[in-house]
Formats: sequence, C-alpha cells, structure tokens
Amino acid sequence: PWAVSIARDPRHNKGTAFTEKERDAHYLRGLLPPAIFTQELQEKRLMHNLRQFEVPLQRYMAMMDLQERNERLFYKLLIDNVEELLPVVYTPTVGEACQKYGSIFRRPQGLYISLKEKGKILEVLKNWPERNIQVIVVTDGERILGLGDLGCQGMGIPVGKLSLYTALGGIRPSACLPITIDVGTNNEKLLNDEFYIGLKQRRATGQEYAELLEEFMTAVKQNYGEKVLVQFEDFANHNAFDLLEKYTRSHLVFNDDIQGTASVVLAGLIAALKLVGGTLADHKFLFLGAGEAGTGIAELIALEISKQTKAPVEETRKKIWLVDSKGLIVSSRKESLQHFKKPWAHDHEPVKNLLDAVKAIKPTVLIGSSGAGRTFTKEVVEAMASFNEKPLILALSNPTSQSECTAEEAYTWSQGRAIFASGSPFDPVEYNGTLMVPGQANNAYIFPGFGLGLIMSGAIRVHDDLLLAASEALAVQVEDEHFKKGLIYPPFTNIRKISANIAAKVADKAYQLGLASRLPRPKDLVKHAESCMYSPLYRTYR
Ligand code: NAP
Ligand code: MN
Repeated sequence: PWAVSIARDPRHNKGTAFTEKERDAHYLRGLLPPAIFTQELQEKRLMHNLRQFEVPLQRYMAMMDLQERNERLFYKLLIDNVEELLPVVYTPTVGEACQKYGSIFRRPQGLYISLKEKGKILEVLKNWPERNIQVIVVTDGERILGLGDLGCQGMGIPVGKLSLYTALGGIRPSACLPITIDVGTNNEKLLNDEFYIGLKQRRATGQEYAELLEEFMTAVKQNYGEKVLVQFEDFANHNAFDLLEKYTRSHLVFNDDIQGTASVVLAGLIAALKLVGGTLADHKFLFLGAGEAGTGIAELIALEISKQTKAPVEETRKKIWLVDSKGLIVSSRKESLQHFKKPWAHDHEPVKNLLDAVKAIKPTVLIGSSGAGRTFTKEVVEAMASFNEKPLILALSNPTSQSECTAEEAYTWSQGRAIFASGSPFDPVEYNGTLMVPGQANNAYIFPGFGLGLIMSGAIRVHDDLLLAASEALAVQVEDEHFKKGLIYPPFTNIRKISANIAAKVADKAYQLGLASRLPRPKDLVKHAESCMYSPLYRTYR
C-alpha cells in the first residue's frame, strides 16, 4: 500500500526519476520501467511534448495533468520556462479553459462553496485535506478576465493564480487554497449548458450574497487564523470595492484587480520617469476606464505623489483625470456617480469623448483600462505626441484583441517617441531601424512577491504603504540595458529574484508599520525571502 501511495501521490511522485534505492525501499520495483531519468531529462521530454501541441488549450490540459501527476515536475517546468508557460497556465489560455471548464473538467482542484453550503462553510473548509493554509485566492466568477460572468467555471482563475504564487513567489503548494464561491450565474449560455458544473440559477445579490460572504470570511479566520492571506480575484466591480472596504480592517485581504494592478502600473510609471524625466508630481494623468483597474491605479498614484510632496491626497488627486463610458468624470456628474468614482470628479466642463478629453486636459500619461479595444486611435496618439516629447502610453486592456492600440501603432503614430507598455504582450517592433521593446504591465510581477512579503513577516493587515513599497521595489529593478530598449519593466526570466526583492521591501515596511507578527525581524530580508521559497527539486525518499 505504501508503494501505491508514494507513486500515486502527486506531491511525492517522481515517476521515472525514482532511484534504485527508492524503488527498493518503497516496493516500486516492476512498477516502473528500468531506465532512471534525471528531473532535467524528464523536463526536457515534457517540454518537447508540450511544444507538439498546436492548440493552446491542449497545452493547458497537459500542464494540468502534470500538476495532478507530479507536482514538483510541474513547478520545475513552470519556473524554468516561465515566459513560455505563463500564457499557458494563466492568461490568455486560462480564459478559454474557464469558458470550457465544464467539458474539460477532470478532477476538482480547489474548494467549491455554493449557496447549498450556507450555514456549513466552516465544515466545508475542514474537508480540505491541508491544514496549514497561507494564501487563499477566491473568486465568485462574475468578471473572469475580460470574459464576463463564467459562474462556477471561474475556478480556473484561483487555481492558475495560486500556481503562480508557488512558481514565482515560492509559496509552498500545500499552503495554497483555491476557492470558488458559487452564488449562481447570469450567463444564459452556461445556464443552458448540460455540462455546466455550477448552480443553475441566477446570481444571488444583496443580503443573500452579503450573508454568504460574511459567513465565508468568518469561517476562514476561525479555521486559519489572522495571518491567512485572502486574495479576491475577478469579482465584478460593484462587489469588489465593497468587499475590500468591508474586510480590510478585520482580515488580511488583497484585491489583485484593484491593488495588484495599481502597484504594477505605478512601478512602470516610476521606472518610466528615468526616460521621460521629472517627478511623478510633474505629470498629468488621463485614464480611459474608471473601474477596478483605473480607479485603483489612480488612487495609488495620488498616494505616492502625496507621500513625495507632503501635499494632501485630496490635492494630488487633481492631477489625475478619468473618462468612463459617459465621458470625462467632472463635478457636475457627481450626484449620479458610483462611490469609487466620486473622488475623481474635478471641476471642468463636460467632455464627451476621449479625443476631446486628451485635447482639453493635455496629459503627459495616457492609460487605457476600459476593456474596450481600439480606443487609442491615430488621432488620440497623435494628439498625445503633439504636446509631449515622450508621451507615456499604457494600453492595459486584455486580452490582446481588446488592447487600446498595438505597440506598433503607438510607436508609428508618435514617430517612435512613445514609451509604451501593455496588459497583453506584444512582440518587439522595428521603427526606423531601432528595435523598440514594449513592456508588459503584468500583475504577476507584483502579487507573488507581495504575498510572500506578507507571509514571511506574518503581516495581519494590508496597508497602502505596502503596495507603494512593492512598486518601488519593482521599479528599481529595471536596469539601463532595459531602459535602452524602451522597457519600463524588467524581463520575466529573473522573476524569482524580483519577487524576493519585492517580498523583502514589503516585509520591511510591514515591520516598520507594526503590522508584522513574526518576531524577531530577520536581519537580511532578501536572504530570508529566498530561503523561504519553495524549491521544485526532487527530494530523496528513504
Ligand atoms: P471594470 O471595473 O469593469 O471597469 C471598466 C471601466 O471602463 C468602467 O469605468 C467603464 O465605464 C469603462 N468603459 C467600458 N467601456 C468603455 C468605453 N467604450 N469607453 C469608455 N469607457 C469605457 O473593469 P476593470 O477590472 O477595471 O478592467 C478593465 C480592463 O483592464 C480589462 O480589460 C482588464 O483586462 C484590464 N486590466 C489590465 C491589467 C494589467 O494590465 N495588468 C490589470 C487589471 C485589469 P462605466 O463605469 O461608465 O461603465
Ligand atoms: Mn484578475
């Protein structure tokens, strides 16, 4: 029976890499072919196999199978080939996987908590086989990436995000818990799909919704204590802002769509100052899109300027303007605005569209966060280039089809002067003989290191200053050789080192603010972060 358990348990299985001694000690003789592979050789074979698949979803499924078969090998592949595999286990492929989750479903990879479990959530948490949980990523599936309401099939997102927590941030896989809260879906297609895996009812809202989430948050704290990190992921914006506001003072909560995005974009802006000059306070910002991403980024920029200049945040917000689906957000609209937009309603006459807003505000930085594609038109980019020597243009909307403009368009329409980064990756562009490399404002730069910093310091609350510390830690890792290519983010290949540095700065700030409970404070926080990180290398079983 021991033989079966060690080779069948994905956490211990090494497949053809079990040594002679292990094969003897654990009754594996005959259960494996005679050849003994190194982990490197297994990795080479699997990467070769993966590359044979033309269809991204097949690669995704092959990776999920590997994760369920041999966890260490899965993480070895992901860590060693991060640039190639990130788009497979996370966006964009994970989006397609969620859309088809009902038909590709094999084995539950996380915890499902539905309205049926109301009143029993604590018991449900206790059904999960692992006790020492450090990070929970939870979604209610209402706004999965840019794909809308995918209900219970949103499970692919917490699963994918947590595999990045391990691969990029070094959190132990056994300490990660993916959760999907199923309160129904308003997606007609799913409601009529015989293979849909969730509750076939319309979304619960209002009090019913709030009560289920309250029970969940209470049970989490009761079962895992004060130091478990709960990351809210892909909630629709009306709930996202409310949940963050409601639980930020009682739990260790973090919303990646709001705060993680804000931190990664602010890092890019701080780095970009090396290319465009001036301080943040010298710049003027215009956003297209005033939702989770847009207002989250805007607020963190305002806070950073406030820290730097000692001006109150109410003042620094005035350097930042947002456009939503109804036009420029101005004070005459204040009454009818959602609460998270109100701080951005400055005095100005109404402006209907983006081009007119660009001409009226004359921003130095233009940020797209609306989810609507092709909105940075030739006229918009030309206007930006007409009053800026180096216009800073961030096209954050995902996936690629929704990008505000392409990298090539940004460079061409600005005569090669734009500093450009985007949410979805673009290939380098040759403009007038120079190779311009667009950066990617990927949240995966921040959240794994941020989470590690919280965990290793035993932080009990998230504070905006921790987000600012993460941004600054990322920005300083952009080096001259990257700037020369126009990059405002460092390459992804060194992501574990980047994460360790971010974790150290976040932990340091948590200690300074008295939010850290793990005492005494380690002297060298970068070394400590590195030593905490999970290694995917095989262990020897005696
Ligand atoms: P959200 O909360 O739904 O907000 C969308 C905002 O865009 C709303 O303010 C909406 O206006 C506005 N909008 C929509 N269509 C518009 C149009 N045609 N013209 C003007 N405004 C429009 O969404 P979110 O979570 O902020 O995400 C927005 C986008 O950012 C998504 O594509 C997402 O993939 C991307 N994103 C990128 C990153 C990254 O690059 N790292 C991170 C997070 C999100 P109303 O309020 O008037 O409806
Ligand atoms: Mn998200």
